[in-house]
Amino acid sequence: AKENGRGAYRFFKREMDETIRERRNLARELRQAIVDEDLVVHYQPQARASDSQICGFEALVRWKHPTRGMIPPLDFIPLAEETGLIIPLGEWVLRKSCEEAAGWDRPLSIAVNLSPLQLNQANLPTIVHEILIQTGLSPARLELEVTESALFKDYQRALDNLRRLKAMGVRIAMDDFGTGFSSLSTLQSFPFDKIKVDKSFVENIHRDERATVIVKAVLGLGRSLDIPVVAEGVETPEQLEFLRGEDCAEVQGYAIGRPAPADTLSAWTCGVVE
Ligand code: C2E
Ligand code: CA
Ligand code: CA
Ligand code: CA
Repeated sequence: AKENGRGAYRFFKREMDETIRERRNLARELRQAIVDEDLVVHYQPQARASDSQICGFEALVRWKHPTRGMIPPLDFIPLAEETGLIIPLGEWVLRKSCEEAAGWDRPLSIAVNLSPLQLNQANLPTIVHEILIQTGLSPARLELEVTESALFKDYQRALDNLRRLKAMGVRIAMDDFGTGFSSLSTLQSFPFDKIKVDKSFVENIHRDERATVIVKAVLGLGRSLDIPVVAEGVETPEQLEFLRGEDCAEVQGYAIGRPAPADTLSAWTCGVVE
């Protein structure tokens, strides 16, 4: 039995070493990919729920890997967060999406995800300010999405950064609302400009009575606090109808449009300013 145990341990250890080696390789490749800009930002439309008019886009990064093809963010953002690579990566996404949005004819908003490490960087407001100046994007068009976990590393620093960003005229959205442990106290601690109710609830509208009740409650909360609510992951006409009926401010999801490269957005971004 003891021998077996040792064998299992050796096997386990080999697997571990393998995993560690793979992660190290991936981190090295990612570092290089940031330098080489082997990354692309896809944009997903966000629409006013009442009439489905596009009002902005969320920037979602992808890694254009030379052999593995397009790698989705969930396969490398956590690694970037752990290795600190999210700092240059996040700055690249911010600059790129502000640059592209500044080139659109219509003054649509651009929402960019901020990771916990970024939100806890003392120079974050300075970086955002510089990018806005360099790209010429009006701060009123920029929205930064933060999750509650981003506030927990260094609470004071994170709140201070959010206040400074807001003072610059940038809007702050609370992302993945309802999935964390203390969404409500996070909501109390800072005057967010928007609440994004997570797609894990939205996808279960009409499928699960509890999810439906939760979405309704979040919409009611937004109404009472005077904070517009965005529903993410809206896939079906039925979900869209429900959200409209419940006075949801904005919707985002495959029912409106999938994330797509900048050069495919002209139907939305070009033309007369309304
Ligand atoms: P998120 O911020 O919650 O973004 C929404 C995710 O839901 C996106 O996945 C989007 O493609 C997907 N989605 C949108 N509509 C639908 C729908 O109708 N149905 C379903 N099933 N999914 C939908 P994506 O692009 O794979 O991004 C995943 C996560 O990666 C994002 O979740 C965000 O947390 C993170 N992420 C993406 N880009 C960045 C970035 O530039 N910086 C940081 N820090 N995180 C990023
Ligand atoms: Ca987001
Ligand atoms: Ca989400
Ligand atoms: Ca374009």
